Amino acid sequence: MLCLKCHNETRVIDSREDTEHSIRRRRECLQCAHRFTTFERAEMPRLIVVKRDGSKTPFQKEKIAQGIAKAAEKRPLSLADIHRIVETIEQQLYDRGDDEISSRVIGELVMQELRTVDTVSYLRFASVYKAFRSANAFEKELKALQR
Ligand SMILES: [Zn+2]
Repeated sequence: MLCLKCHNETRVIDSREDTEHSIRRRRECLQCAHRFTTFERAEMPRLIVVKRDGSKTPFQKEKIAQGIAKAAEKRPLSLADIHRIVETIEQQLYDRGDDEISSRVIGELVMQELRTVDTVSYLRFASVYKAFRSANAFEKELKALQR
């Protein structure tokens, strides 16, 4: 990273983890000795989503958030709730330690989380995701929930 004042090379004089995903670095310019602090995002391993048809796409949490937001339309779920759910799912995905994750697993995790916060949102998501083939399958799901 270049000096903010004179744009010459800088060196790192201190580096520490700020949060789990960001690193705080103290830098000093080799030319003018100007010191400044940067917050840099720690490199996260890349997750690849393997879709049902076998195609692969980089993991994007915005997509999950959109899916949940759609299911939670007009439901008492705030953006903060959705954000929290997405964070939880992302963490679980990273915890698995796999580079590649099937979209099915992600769908299951979303359902698992939604189920605990809002039944209606869960059913909406599940009906789109599982594409309940019959009213019967939907009934079964409802019964399972009521238990
Ligand atoms: Zn400088």
